[in-house]
Amino acid sequence: MISADDKENIIDQAFRDSVATINQKGKRNFLFPKQPKGPLYNKRTLASIIYLIVFFSLPWIKVNGEPFIMLNVLKRKFILFGQIFGPQDFFIFALGMITFMVFIILFTVVFGRVFCGWACPQTIFMEMVFRKIEYWIDGNFHKQQQMKTMPWNAFKIRKRLTKITVFWLISFVIANYFMAYLISMDEVLRYVHEGIGAHAGTFSALLIFTSVFFFVYYWFREQVCIVVCPYGRLQGVLLDKNSIVVAYDYVRGEPRGKVKSHDHAPKGDCIDCKACVRVCPTGIDIRNGTQLECVNCTACIDACDEIMESLDRPKQLIRLASENNIAQKEKLKITARIKAYSTVLLLIVSALVVMLATRDSVDITILRTQGMVYQQLPGEQTGNLYSARMFNKTHRDILVELSIPAEEGKIEIIGKQPLIEKESYAVITFLVKRNNKQITKRKSTVHIEIRAEGKTIATKQTTFIGPVNS
Ligand code: SF4
Ligand code: SF4
Repeated sequence: MISADDKENIIDQAFRDSVATINQKGKRNFLFPKQPKGPLYNKRTLASIIYLIVFFSLPWIKVNGEPFIMLNVLKRKFILFGQIFGPQDFFIFALGMITFMVFIILFTVVFGRVFCGWACPQTIFMEMVFRKIEYWIDGNFHKQQQMKTMPWNAFKIRKRLTKITVFWLISFVIANYFMAYLISMDEVLRYVHEGIGAHAGTFSALLIFTSVFFFVYYWFREQVCIVVCPYGRLQGVLLDKNSIVVAYDYVRGEPRGKVKSHDHAPKGDCIDCKACVRVCPTGIDIRNGTQLECVNCTACIDACDEIMESLDRPKQLIRLASENNIAQKEKLKITARIKAYSTVLLLIVSALVVMLATRDSVDITILRTQGMVYQQLPGEQTGNLYSARMFNKTHRDILVELSIPAEEGKIEIIGKQPLIEKESYAVITFLVKRNNKQITKRKSTVHIEIRAEGKTIATKQTTFIGPVNS
């Protein structure tokens, strides 16, 4: 068994003194990764195609005439799966966010950063859209390196202009879809129809989004994962020796070295060909162990498997494995940490399901009108004035009816018909009238039934105040 100290000695620690994307002069070291190939890359391509189809289809899907998904942060209106969520659903939203965070933590504890390589929009667009277009326009990584160093000439200018134009156009398309997720595709189409002049502000925002996407995919690239992304930075605290990550089997691979006929020193399976480094989109050498920069894209697994196959050695020298799996041949263990996170996740998912299942289509708050206690009415009656504040969360106008049991009195609506327009607030003012003979104490409870479309949508309790001497 190789101890942690032995491992430290085996692996050259020099990599800790430098960052792959910063050169000796402290400037950006632009990476030219080799295009990966192999079964995992093919699976990733397939997963990305499905992902992109879903990404570009969702804004077009409607439920009852409304978007399937819309995240309008400015208007604080969110539609998920066709259901409207507004500021009054803050608790559901907060719980949903907590559930998502715990799920991510649990997933990371068990499976490491596999989300980054296989499902993160940044990696999908960078590696599966823009990088592939770059190979198509500029050629393979050798040609890209040559073009970088060659002097400016007609060929280089033509290639650069083509790449900038194509990258800009795709960034513009992504920015439009990004807007559609924020304000709905109908709104985006309406703005297009009405023209730039009528919506200069929105068009400026669109150009800003486009510029940001262009900057990220044309130049900033892997720096998003290395420098900006907070999730990447969390790896250090989330991963442990049982987490499954892309890992180099140093037990089998070391001591690394090229096979030479005159060299009879014992060698591991790693021939130090650096094929795994050449394909890495973040420029690291996975043989140095798990690093913050690794997005678990699995490109190095494919590259090393190809080398092992050509040497007729077993594949999976680099593979998805935990540190304990490599050092001690242990299988995946359900640790106390995994159990604790799972229990918390189960509890908050249950709470979320209950909150969603019991969520009303109309949000109702009934309050007694301020500054009034009760009114003496003609015919030996006493009245209390209330206002009901209602938010219609559905996509249709709703006509509501209010009633109370006969023994508690009668309701009289003040003003016009209580119609609540779709996705809107309405305040209904009403009087509860009671015969003085029915009033036996100063404070009593009134049960108000709210009905819409032939069914009870809520029953609310409030207080009725009668004369002191009743
Ligand atoms: S080390 Fe391997 S898995 Fe990690 S980013 Fe580089 S190529 Fe992808
Ligand atoms: S691809 Fe495999 S054999 Fe080549 S350097 Fe990487 S780990 Fe070693």
